[in-house]
Amino acid sequence: MDVIVVGCGASGVAALRRLHDAGLKVVGLEAADRIGGRICTVEYGEGRLDVGAAWCHGEKDNIVFELANPLDLLGRPNPDHQWFVRSNGDLVPEDQGKAIQDTLSQAVEAADKNNAKSISECVRDATISTPSLQQDPHLSASFAEWFERSNHAGGARGKSLRGLDESWGCEGEFMLNWKGRGYATVLDVMLNKHPDPTQQVPIQILLNKEVTSIKWRSQAAAAPLVHVQCRDGSLYAAKSLIVTMSVGVLKERGELVHVQCRDGSLYAAKSLIVTMSVGVLKERHAKLFNPPLPAEKVNTINNLQMCVLDKIYIEFTKPWWPKFPSSFAVLWRPEDKDKFSKEERWITEIYGFNTVEYQPNSLLAWIYGEGAVEMEKVSEDAVKAGVIKLLNVLFSKEFEVTPVKSILRSKWASNPFARGAYAYRSVTNEQHGGGAITLSEPLYFKDNFPILCFGGEATSHHRHGAVHGAIEAGFREADRLIEAFIKGIY
Ligand SMILES: Cc1cc2nc3c(=O)[nH]c(=O)nc-3n(C[C@H](O)[C@H](O)[C@H](O)COP(=O)(O)OP(=O)(O)OC[C@H]3O[C@@H](n4cnc5c(N)ncnc54)[C@H](O)[C@@H]3O)c2cc1C
Repeated sequence: MDVIVVGCGASGVAALRRLHDAGLKVVGLEAADRIGGRICTVEYGEGRLDVGAAWCHGEKDNIVFELANPLDLLGRPNPDHQWFVRSNGDLVPEDQGKAIQDTLSQAVEAADKNNAKSISECVRDATISTPSLQQDPHLSASFAEWFERSNHAGGARGKSLRGLDESWGCEGEFMLNWKGRGYATVLDVMLNKHPDPTQQVPIQILLNKEVTSIKWRSQAAAAPLVHVQCRDGSLYAAKSLIVTMSVGVLKERGELVHVQCRDGSLYAAKSLIVTMSVGVLKERHAKLFNPPLPAEKVNTINNLQMCVLDKIYIEFTKPWWPKFPSSFAVLWRPEDKDKFSKEERWITEIYGFNTVEYQPNSLLAWIYGEGAVEMEKVSEDAVKAGVIKLLNVLFSKEFEVTPVKSILRSKWASNPFARGAYAYRSVTNEQHGGGAITLSEPLYFKDNFPILCFGGEATSHHRHGAVHGAIEAGFREADRLIEAFIKGIY
């Protein structure tokens, strides 16, 4: 085996496809019982819903757009009507709401990015120092909280202002949809399953293979435990091994990485690409890698943060919102939060709702941060009851809300193979170092063969947090290895 790819989300699948096309022997080991990772399209009623990534964000220099647009897979949204609803059910006039929103966005845009300040601090400062925001300070404070939540800013220790400069958007439409097919279509495209599934490329992807140990050889490393696999598939392990093959055979066959899965299975290859999320790496790196990752890499993993973001899809008997598409920004007042008990407090962290393309009876509620973590812990019935209570509080004054038929919620924080939605550069990175570029650096065998490579969205230098960044990173690491194999460095 030439390359093992750990994790078969967008990044892993991209790497596998490119390595396979270059004629290398590859295998993908995926812990879950499906591929896609944080792309998770599920059948729902007559159609499909995306529990994870849903939109292709932008067009120019966007690899997803480049893959999907020639196949006419992407749809453009109609302009949406934005409602600003206070937590007592009052609506804020649209022009007033937009003006406050614009003032906050401009404050973030204009802020000095060369310090270790957070986006949250910048927004909070703006509500105090901007005269127009002082006209109704309570309303402005509610807006600031909504702005922080909807930008997943993460509080004073959260997303850094400097990170905004490092993260590049793609020009063009930001909310391209998949015409009801779901984001998983991009996986089909990469595996050649679209439009004709019989054309699928024969890449070996093994599901339910949770990798629990990665033993890799650096020049400095002590001899690891040896795992041996024979052509007939049989496996042997020992503390030591005597090799008597010729140097030529060794050059051809030596495998530098050994991987063990929770089910006991063993795999060996010349190189490996890790594509797990930063959340998974935070939790597991110390036990996973042998020898351990170098200090610089560990520092980066510790300082990058995972945004916790969840979706709650709510299906109604029929739509009650007068305009389509619509979005509702929820502006919480402290006294309304107090109407919810301690157990229900998570509800007060729902910060917005959207109508859902191709699902005319559904709204999508967004919940972020600690509230999302708490929401994941309660039962589905409790989530439904909480959502119904919130809908009454927010909308019964101005709208005739129809009964809720069902809900579908995500649980990205408690998912052991995700541990959150996406990684971001935090204030801690600015103070203590590390970032996407450091995370993406491979580890070398004998100084020049990339034996341990790092893909995944968080390693994308300028497009982290998104599927196009994940795919770009998968291709980048595949290209790195293809070059090493072609040059015969190995
Ligand atoms: C709610 C939500 C909404 C989002 N919306 C958008 C959006 O609209 N547009 C957009 O571009 N992006 C969006 N994103 C972000 C996007 O989903 C991710 O950036 C992208 O999918 C990450 O891909 P990846 O391959 O890097 O990681 P992952 O998708 O996390 O893939 C890693 C894979 O590794 C596997 N794995 C983990 N541990 C192990 C192990 N021990 N052994 C083997 N396998 C393992 C996982 O199961 C997973 O399949 C959203 C994310 C979330 C959660």
